[in-house]
Amino acid sequence: MFCPFCSAQETKVIDSRLVAEGQQVRRRRECLECHERFTTFENAELVMPRVIKRDGSREPFNEDKLRAGLQRALEKRPVSTERVEQCILSIKSQLRATGEREVSSQFLGNLIMNALRELDKVAYVRFASVYRSFEDIKEFGEEIAKLND
Ligand SMILES: [Zn+2]
Repeated sequence: MFCPFCSAQETKVIDSRLVAEGQQVRRRRECLECHERFTTFENAELVMPRVIKRDGSREPFNEDKLRAGLQRALEKRPVSTERVEQCILSIKSQLRATGEREVSSQFLGNLIMNALRELDKVAYVRFASVYRSFEDIKEFGEEIAKLND
């Protein structure tokens, strides 16, 4: 994103919010060279952050992969397709709203877990058990204990 005042390439996002019903992102930016501030409107599809995987490689956010992961967790659960699609939209909105160019796969995983926790507890536990790969078995056990409350 070039600064309209001095054409420097490095700018910092100061504020980021969704507008036009989530179709656009309005950003306040500050130029790191001349410190002028300006506003941009970006097509939300273009500003989806890339995902940094555990091995450090980057990949574009993949909606189909997200949908497949959710459907796997929700297999045979009483959750309508419509609610799954709403969940996907919500996760995408949250990703855009970060204003980041890249997010960790862990951050994305947490968004998905939070969404599933609201949607269906069984699916949440299924997803969490795969996603966390039993890395943190104690914490996971505590999460399951909370579900029984
Ligand atoms: Zn500038």
